[in-house]
Amino acid sequence: GEVDFKGEARFSQHLKEEGEAVSDFTKSKTLSQQRQYLPIFSVRDELLQVVRENQVLVIMGETGSGKTTQLTQYLYEDGYIVNGIIGCTQPRRVAAMSVAKRVSEEMETELGDKVGYAIRFEDATGPSTVIKYMTDGVLLRKTLKDPDLEKYSIIVMDEAHERSLNTDVLFGILKKVVARRRDLKLIITSATLNGQKFSNFFGGVPIFHIPGRTFRVQIRYSKTPCEDYVEAAVKQAMTIHIADAPGDILIFLTGQDEIEATCYALSERMEQLTSPIKQPVPKLLVLPIYSQLSVDLQAKIFQKAEDGARKCIVATNIAETSLTVDGIFYVIDSGYGKMKVYNPRTAMDALQVFPISQASADQRAGRAGRTGPGTCYRLYTENAYENEMLQSPVPEIQRTNLGNVVLLLKSLKIQNLLDFDFMDPPPQDNILNSMYQLWVLGALNNVGDLTDVGRKMVEFPLDPPLAKMLLMGEQLECLNEVLTIVSMLSVPSVFFRPKDREEESDAAREKFLVPESDHLTLLNVYQQWKANQYRGDWCSDHFLHVKGLRKAREIRSQLLDILKTLNIPLTYCGPDWDVVRKAICAAYFHNAAMLKGIGEYVNCRNRMPCNLHAKSALHGLGYTPDYVIYHKAILTTKEYMQCVTAVEPHWLAELGPMFFSV
Ligand code: ADP
Ligand code: MG
Repeated sequence: GEVDFKGEARFSQHLKEEGEAVSDFTKSKTLSQQRQYLPIFSVRDELLQVVRENQVLVIMGETGSGKTTQLTQYLYEDGYIVNGIIGCTQPRRVAAMSVAKRVSEEMETELGDKVGYAIRFEDATGPSTVIKYMTDGVLLRKTLKDPDLEKYSIIVMDEAHERSLNTDVLFGILKKVVARRRDLKLIITSATLNGQKFSNFFGGVPIFHIPGRTFRVQIRYSKTPCEDYVEAAVKQAMTIHIADAPGDILIFLTGQDEIEATCYALSERMEQLTSPIKQPVPKLLVLPIYSQLSVDLQAKIFQKAEDGARKCIVATNIAETSLTVDGIFYVIDSGYGKMKVYNPRTAMDALQVFPISQASADQRAGRAGRTGPGTCYRLYTENAYENEMLQSPVPEIQRTNLGNVVLLLKSLKIQNLLDFDFMDPPPQDNILNSMYQLWVLGALNNVGDLTDVGRKMVEFPLDPPLAKMLLMGEQLECLNEVLTIVSMLSVPSVFFRPKDREEESDAAREKFLVPESDHLTLLNVYQQWKANQYRGDWCSDHFLHVKGLRKAREIRSQLLDILKTLNIPLTYCGPDWDVVRKAICAAYFHNAAMLKGIGEYVNCRNRMPCNLHAKSALHGLGYTPDYVIYHKAILTTKEYMQCVTAVEPHWLAELGPMFFSV
């Protein structure tokens, strides 16, 4: 909590209209007045003129200037829906959902009617949809079926500065599409980074600048490195709440667990303060936001706190640029965020906590200066900012597994991936490594072309090993069971473990365990839920998240539709689930581990230790099997295997001959 005053932020040079704090703004103005107050509104006509005159265009503007919510509406108002609809891509699913909801309200239509969204496994659009927000991954997959994107008259690639993997791949693909289809317009929007680079990539297209409107933000650094940023953030938020002037707080942390813990701690502190009415403390409205949160709960962060109360939003980096909440005067920045990185040791991607970059830190701080002069508390030292942080984040394409991308580009008939028009090419090793993994799964042949298996795998919006698992379910005639497992693996854990009822919920979970497999445990949960008519009260009685299970059911039915289009019939294996374990093994033998010492496993290929999780069903076996495969490895204090299944050693030799022999 110790902070050091440090002048003003380097990015707030264009401060303007400083006295004009507008904290009550959203409460007092109608939606259409709010729209007209946004910076983009002052340049609406010029902007539309430039769009008319150019096929491809880059638009740059501060976060919160109205790019995401307004641009699509302006295009609609200007008639760009004659020969197709308006598509707008978002790197994050939360943003796609939340922004679509907002725009539907502004346009006074039901969500899913004129304005809709599509994210993986969820399509909230309809026949009258003219503005469609979607994740970049969804549009990328669209190019498989509709290479010229005939359905669209204009595509906005939003939040391009995030440089997400899918956006980066789309850049290369769309460059070709706009060359073929002269009637398709493409707009790339970006916060105040990289604009020139995007313009150059498309051959020097114009860059349109939206004038900014930001206020001064004071930066306060921690004097000493902070040991526990969750604790420090809670402390700082409470200090602000008790002592400082009105204005909402935004805390940046790394992920769901941390955020939930922080929200809980904040509510507890508030209760301690107020319960034996020691002092009259105003209310604190604590609201989480992270990607797995439901749409209704997400929407809450935009609600105004009641009079006299203060709002405190606890967020991941989703609130850095994708979502803008007005009325934030205080930002508390942990200095960390989660990033997907390829881990060569496990040969898989993992979400890992990393120090953020200077650019991200500045973005975070800027959130405090949207509606008036604000303060940003950085829970790290000035020295860490200056000397330890990277200037800007490494683009995702250079740090993640490219399995899906390779599969997709191959099926778009791009023969030599090393020649693909990447804005920043991924390291050659990454491409080759991903190709190797696809070859191991049988998706590519010896000369690197798609096999029949590979062609089928592309059809599923799943990571390659999960798609492979489905196809093995077909081959081993247990597709029904495997389909359920794949669906359950595509949602967050369905086991509910409330803070004050740990023992009870653990006991409930144990009743579902299938001793030799966490995968089969998931299957068991789903089948029992089904046997109980998919009831919600049954879930709460058994400490299961009904929402997660419902989502799994929905995913299951969508995957089933794809299987139908491929003419793959559903097969059932009955009560003997050994064959299901074999199907799982056939898709995950690259994640095999063998017993070495008592209760200790090492990865079969690289001999790295990997541990059985305390929650694994395998603890119920009474012994530890010699060989297991796991869904993924997670690194906490040690490397843990998540979702483990016991396998027979001869299966490994039979199914993964490139790695194992008897
Ligand atoms: P940009 O894309 O330029 O960062 P946005 O279009 O996302 O800007 O945001 C413009 C304004 O719309 C911001 O002031 C933001 O607070 C508001 N806004 C966006 N989504 C919502 C929402 N769901 N509810 C209320 N206000 C919103
Ligand atoms: Mg935006």
